[in-house]
This record gives sequence, C-alpha cells and structure tokens, in this order.
Amino acid sequence: MYEKQIEQLVVLQKVDDEIILLEAEIDQAPKDVAALEARYASLEKRKEQMEEKLALLKEQKKKLDFEIDEDSVKVKKSKSKLMLVGTTKEYHAMMREMDSLEKLNRLREEEKVTVLEETERQTELYEDVTSKIKELNAELEEKRAGLKEKLDAAQSDLDKLKRRRDKAGKVVPKPILGRYEFIRSRLSHPVIVPVDQAVCSGCNIMIPPQNYNDLQEGKQILSCPNCQRLIYWIEHIPESAKPKALRKS
Ligand SMILES: [Zn+2]
Repeated sequence: MYEKQIEQLVVLQKVDDEIILLEAEIDQAPKDVAALEARYASLEKRKEQMEEKLALLKEQKKKLDFEIDEDSVKVKKSKSKLMLVGTTKEYHAMMREMDSLEKLNRLREEEKVTVLEETERQTELYEDVTSKIKELNAELEEKRAGLKEKLDAAQSDLDKLKRRRDKAGKVVPKPILGRYEFIRSRLSHPVIVPVDQAVCSGCNIMIPPQNYNDLQEGKQILSCPNCQRLIYWIEHIPESAKPKALRKS
C-alpha cells in the first residue's frame, strides 16, 4: 500500500512536470506572435515616416525646379533687353542682376543634386522596409494559423494529463495529496524526491539516521526535514517496478 502510494505520487509528479511544460508552451505561443506583431507595427511606422520624408523631398525638388525656371526666364528676358538699354550705368546694373540670378540658380542646382541623392538613398531604404514588411507579413500569417493548431493540440494534451492526474490523485490518501499540493504551491519542482544513501535528492542534504530508518521501514510518507519535500527510499521503487513513464530510457 505504501509503495503504491509513493508510486502514484511519483506518477502525479511526472504528470505535473508535463503539465508545467505544456502550460509554459501555451503561455509562450501567443507571445511569439505578439512579438512579431510589435515588430510589424514598428516597421509600418518607419515606412510611414519614410513616405512623409519622400513626399517632403519631392516637394523640395518641385520648388527648386520652379524657382530655377522662373529665374532662368528672367535672365533670358534681361539678355534680350540688354542691347536696348541706353546708358552704361543701366547696362551694368542689368548685368549685376543677371549675375546674381545665375549665381542663385547655380546654388539651387547644387541643392537639387543633394535632394536627388537623398531621394535615392531614402527610396532604397523605403524599398528595403517594404520588402521586410512583406516577409514579416507572410511569417505572421503562418504563425497565426499555426498558433491555433498548436494551442488546440496542447490543450487536448493538457486535458488528457489532467485526467491522468485525477486518476493518480485518487489512489493517494487525501491528507498526503493535500501535502503534495501544499508543497507544490510553495516549492519549485520536484515535490517528491528519492533518497539515495541517506541523501535527499531535492536539496542534496543528508537526512538524520532516525528519519532514514523510518523511511526505509516504509510505513508512512515522510518529508525531508530540510527542504520539506516528500521523500521515498530509492530502493522502494526499483527501476523495473516504476511506471513506464518514469523509467530511465
Ligand atoms: Zn530535502
């Protein structure tokens, strides 16, 4: 009876180990998708900012083109009128004006080169972001579709494990099951551990000889005096007698 109870506690724990793993998986899966979604959103934002910048550059170029055209026309008009001026003074004034307009336009042409270079650079970045967004979108679609499948499968495994847990729990007397649950809620896994050569494998500390003797007698389920985990003598459950799930493969 004692050995059967220990065995069932060990089974219970094995089931709980799997439950913990599955719950972590169920917990993590949507987070992976959410992380991708966050990356997607930040790329979309970058894309928008780039669109604004490109529109601004286009506007700048348009303005420069307009001003260059306007002043070129002015220079042309002045040139055709140059021969008609009466005085040298007027002639020089006109020449100076034309010079300054031409100088202004040369500066504008230089600025236009810079604007065009920047436009080219930004367009490359923009195309890069756009293709990254496309890739990410495909990945997201795949992940979203896989997520439901993954969660459904994990949930069905979890339900099975919970049924197995109930079954194992029925064999263990209520007070001992209560102790198991109590320890489980307070200590990190495992809850029930073998004692090999008087050493508790939960905390790796030697248990006192009297407790070790009691343990070897195998009359009642004991706790490690140090870490409070439930303990059993390793010889009580030989490898071959352990439930299949517990055998070292
Ligand atoms: Zn211990």
